[in-house]
Amino acid sequence: MKQKLIGVFVFIFLFSGFSNSGSAQPTHQVDRPKLVVGIVVDQMRWDYLYRYYDRYGNGGFKRLLNEGFTCENAFISHLPSYTAVGHATVYTGSVPAIHGITGNDWKDQVTGRKWYCVEDTTVETVGADNKNGKMSPRNLLATTVTDELRLATNFRSKVVGVSLKDRASILPAGHAANAAFWFDDKTGHFISSTYYMKELPEWAQKFNKANRPAALVAGDWNTLYPMDTYTQSTADNVEWEGIVKDEEESPVFPHRISKYYDNKKGEIRSTPFGNTLTLEFAKAALEGNRMGQGAFTDFLTINCASTDYVGHRYGPNSIEVEDTYLRLDKDLEDFFYYLDRNVGIGNYTVFLTADHGAAHSIKFMEAHNLPAGFFEPKPLMKNLKAFLKAKFRTDKIVKEDLNYHVALDKELIEKLNLDYDKVKRDIVQFLQTQPGVEFAADIENLGNSPIPEPIKTMIANGYNPKRAGALIIIQDPGWFSSNGKGTTHGSWNPHDTHIPMVFMGWGIKHGRSTDTYHMTDIAPTISALLHIQMPSGAVGRVVSEALK
Ligand SMILES: [Zn+2]
Repeated sequence: MKQKLIGVFVFIFLFSGFSNSGSAQPTHQVDRPKLVVGIVVDQMRWDYLYRYYDRYGNGGFKRLLNEGFTCENAFISHLPSYTAVGHATVYTGSVPAIHGITGNDWKDQVTGRKWYCVEDTTVETVGADNKNGKMSPRNLLATTVTDELRLATNFRSKVVGVSLKDRASILPAGHAANAAFWFDDKTGHFISSTYYMKELPEWAQKFNKANRPAALVAGDWNTLYPMDTYTQSTADNVEWEGIVKDEEESPVFPHRISKYYDNKKGEIRSTPFGNTLTLEFAKAALEGNRMGQGAFTDFLTINCASTDYVGHRYGPNSIEVEDTYLRLDKDLEDFFYYLDRNVGIGNYTVFLTADHGAAHSIKFMEAHNLPAGFFEPKPLMKNLKAFLKAKFRTDKIVKEDLNYHVALDKELIEKLNLDYDKVKRDIVQFLQTQPGVEFAADIENLGNSPIPEPIKTMIANGYNPKRAGALIIIQDPGWFSSNGKGTTHGSWNPHDTHIPMVFMGWGIKHGRSTDTYHMTDIAPTISALLHIQMPSGAVGRVVSEALK
């Protein structure tokens, strides 16, 4: 009996905290999930969570809302509200003024060279014999939360980016990523660049060989449910919906993509099957890299891009958009079940957000007496040049207009002995007389501009002097440049900037908040959750109420 008791004491001593003192290795590790998955649904307006809520199943969007924490009033705080800008902002917790991604394209204001956001002439395509892989994140000036995870674990965490779009794969995965993959329209394969690797890993080659895109489009795009159940949408055939060029005469179901996929592989982007393909490839990436299976937290970034292509072509009120979200909901349900089975319920954290929203189609708005209009940049610039010629005897003062920014030729203005500030004032005043222009502003004197918040701050956040012109145009609500078909985004207005922001899983409380948050808050929140440093340009705050 006595011996037994001593044995028990020795046992307790050895396995209690005492045994950790002295030279023994600490047994407690930083508490982190096995995997983080960031999902950016391209062009997802916040209201889509509720617009189609009654038709969603329980395992996709509804699971996020019913198990996770939703920030109901999350906004983009920069201009323009474009894809590359949004993705860079989500993952850096920063703003274009600092992270440098001021558009999908921009003109370098010092050299005059035009840049695509992720182009990189120093790298080569991996996985195809073309130039679609000459891409890298080197134009991104700040670190991402994915970079910070790699740094925090001395590069033992794995980070992989997946999207149909190069920019939406590369920017989220960051500079120190293990890999980023995107879809190549020429081959119908997922490709990468020599920035990350010399050749595609075996699992990716195998995925490409299986030719999943052809299988996914084989049955054409029909509605998931009977057409008359799509009561949240306009009739199938309306004049403001776009068509598949050279293949369709009207924008109606079924969209017979199987007939033209072989010659137009990129068309899978504009169907819900592009999202299915992306999530299938994401699963293959998880498996191929054994993500969420090791001792260190891994991070997979996913962009579902088809919502954006479908939205651009058909507009937010179309059956096509409704069907795309109903199908994405099913794909997400399937993906979350996959994570439950393979990483384990409670072992992973997911967040879902959007890079931007979208306006309603202009003709749809007009048909319902709602305010909207065609903003026409070409005649506007023509008028501006005529004004400049009359006033200063030259129209060369304006170099270009891009992303609603107007750049001036400062050297020429100096050479002509003109007052730079006065020239800008005159141009601003002229622009404000033009149709569809609500405000114009000289960003270098933004403090003196009578522009209300939050627009003023969004302008400042979006202005990087090396990558954008010093003047900006803000359109009237509902006004944008359009050929009358489909829609676009880019403005400050809530339809473009009110985004879903939902967290779910490890470390996340269930709940909802109607406080105002911003896209820049996502990376700091994930950093706090993971106990890692915030990205190098982060300006956002932690959504504390979402964290356990
Ligand atoms: Zn986008």
